[in-house]
Amino acid sequence: MLTRLSISSHEEVYRVEDAESGLRGFIALHSTRLGPAAGGLRMRVYQSDEAALEDALNLSRGMSYKNAAAGLPLGGGKAVIMGDPVRDKTPDLLRAMGRAIERLAGRYWTAEDMGMAPEDMAEIARATRYVAGRDQGRHASGDPSPVTAKGVLSAMQAGAAKVWGSGDLRDRHVAVQGLGHVGWHLCRLLHAAGARLSVADMDAARAKVTAAEFGAQVVDSGAIHAVEADIFAPCAIGGVLNAGTIPEIRARMVCGAANNQLATPEDADRLHQRGILYVPDYVANGGGIINVSAEILEIGDRAGWVDSRLGAIGANVARILDRAAGEGISPAVIADRMVEEALLDKAG
Ligand code: NAD
Repeated sequence: MLTRLSISSHEEVYRVEDAESGLRGFIALHSTRLGPAAGGLRMRVYQSDEAALEDALNLSRGMSYKNAAAGLPLGGGKAVIMGDPVRDKTPDLLRAMGRAIERLAGRYWTAEDMGMAPEDMAEIARATRYVAGRDQGRHASGDPSPVTAKGVLSAMQAGAAKVWGSGDLRDRHVAVQGLGHVGWHLCRLLHAAGARLSVADMDAARAKVTAAEFGAQVVDSGAIHAVEADIFAPCAIGGVLNAGTIPEIRARMVCGAANNQLATPEDADRLHQRGILYVPDYVANGGGIINVSAEILEIGDRAGWVDSRLGAIGANVARILDRAAGEGISPAVIADRMVEEALLDKAG
């Protein structure tokens, strides 16, 4: 059921199959240098085995960077299940995945990702103890979104301090793309901090309601990146910073919750050349994994521990931005470098 694949960029990679439940997927452990590999389980339709494997490899590598940047004693891993979560997800299939995870004996910890909900984690927990992101139990971490939003705010304040000499967001104009779990909480926090908001969501009704709650202006979702704002906050999909959108951005800074905001690594340079400060996404949105890690690490004083780690996001952003300014290169490059140094340090 677990077949080990030999892939030199990753410590361990497995194909997972269970004929009885129809389970087909992959588990990838990119690195366990800083601790057990942690990262969510994604279920979606993939065009091929290769596409699913590639997703697992990329996402698990990304988790190594995100966990290290958040200063967590966790490595990077990810699991994917091939299939439609609405049609194909069954308790049998989830438990089969749980059994596969259990066989890795704690070298990989799973949690929610796309296509998964807390009740699915509860089902998986019937077959393995190495699962977080549950909403019941002594250390259950529940919905990570409010914590993620708080971390993004802290990152934004650190970025503002660099650009304008003050982290105070009062009267700053922020354009928020995506008003879902994280975007809505971010709007709430920004509104409380006195910021002016422009908002956009594919779901027009959601945009209208959120705008009314926070006195925001609604903007078309295809135009939100180009609003004449101080800060653009991508909180929806990946790839929004690309060769097409970057020339149109009028904000001085980009800082948001979305994963993989840069369409290509070159887009970091494009932003840099235009003088737009980019706060690396995996640093800004580390609140989600900080929240989940309190469950994995069974932290007793959960609130205090999470808060101190969230505060560290701002300090980390400030360090990255200072070094980027000193070297005259994109903060995205510096963030990657700092993580790689931390990983090497640990190896040495
Ligand atoms: P969500 O699905 O709750 O919300 C996404 C929102 O974006 C939805 O309201 C959707 O209608 C809207 N949307 C989709 N495409 C859009 C577009 N092109 N333009 C405007 N709006 C669009 O997701 P979420 O949990 O809020 O996560 C948002 C982003 O943050 C994702 O990229 C996610 O991977 C990332 N993230 C989330 C967390 C977390 O704690 N939830 C943690 C880290 C990173």
